[in-house]
Amino acid sequence: MRKEKKQQEQKAAFKVSVRVFDGITGQPAAAGIAVHFFVAGFPSGGGNFQFLPSDTAQTDAGGVASIDFIPGDAPGTYDIQVECAQCSEIPSVSYQVNTIQEPPFKEKKPKAEGEEIKKELGGGGAGTLAVWDISPDNPVVTPKDTGGAEKKEFTLTGIANSIFQVTLTPAKSNTGGHQHNGTRPLGALNGAGLLPTGLNTYQGTIGASSQTVITYTAGLVGGQEHISISAGGKVRASTFVNVRVEGLVPLPRPGLYVIESGDKDHPNFTYGKQELIIAIGQIAQAYLSTHSAIISINDLSLVSGGIFDSNKNWNPPHQCHRIGTSVDFNRFEIVNDDTKRRPDIATRINALLQPNNINCKRVVEQDPTKAHFECPGTAKCP
Ligand SMILES: [Zn+2]
Ligand SMILES: [Zn+2]
Repeated sequence: MRKEKKQQEQKAAFKVSVRVFDGITGQPAAAGIAVHFFVAGFPSGGGNFQFLPSDTAQTDAGGVASIDFIPGDAPGTYDIQVECAQCSEIPSVSYQVNTIQEPPFKEKKPKAEGEEIKKELGGGGAGTLAVWDISPDNPVVTPKDTGGAEKKEFTLTGIANSIFQVTLTPAKSNTGGHQHNGTRPLGALNGAGLLPTGLNTYQGTIGASSQTVITYTAGLVGGQEHISISAGGKVRASTFVNVRVEGLVPLPRPGLYVIESGDKDHPNFTYGKQELIIAIGQIAQAYLSTHSAIISINDLSLVSGGIFDSNKNWNPPHQCHRIGTSVDFNRFEIVNDDTKRRPDIATRINALLQPNNINCKRVVEQDPTKAHFECPGTAKCP
């Protein structure tokens, strides 16, 4: 009986509290933000610690989240960390509970209990909204001039009447199949009161409603871009924008044709819509049957569509090749493993279309070294 009582004393709970508040106004965050407590280090033999009622608590109206911590059976330092996944920044704060064995377990004051652990977790609103957010997250937008939805409206949520900055950057270099640098042209942002403050940077003010709408309009280049929102000198919210033509698939590797392009900076150059991919197979088959030779494929579209700047200057020499309906044939053919020049390849392919019910159309492009076709034949270059 006596022993059991002692055990209970040793297992006394420590209240662990953390206060979430807004980094700009200093006001407590709203109620209902989930805060997670966990133990990052504990003394040997102390692994049977507990959080009660669980290791996650919601903030109350004062922005305070509390749980009870019961140390394990060993004396020593329990390193408790706290994180708030919903906050716009996720620093983890930590403090320690030190226990000594002599009866009963006791905390060493300074760093336990609420007062000492009022730490900023970032985010938060002045009694209205606790977190910054931009939505939707990771949407798909089609490149400019490719016939799809090139605009996307984002809703930015934050602290009422606060000033924010928006920065648009490439998500990383080399997205969208462009393995080269230079100043990649990005999309554009606008919205009520949003003003450009530099290249791809903007400033705005959130209204009294704590929300504002930012419209993104894609540029000519496919790939991934990143929108980042800052306020009070800290990043508060961000999202990626995926600029791409949907439904592009790679041309299967050779069989009835070969694929040859000397462009090392655009290694993913054989993407097209299914209808084009099928038509190329039909052309190759018809060519082989009629001429006993294998055709050679050059550029289709890049993996995300958009401009195909084979000069890698972010300017399109290829007017077409943006939406997955274009194909260039090299002006040669392969007969018994020998490559033979075939200046009239476009005429030869053109003559095969109608008899074989292949839905493509010859289009004369600026670059006369290639024979260009659009499939389906109704496709239009932007
Ligand atoms: Zn490029
Ligand atoms: Zn072409």
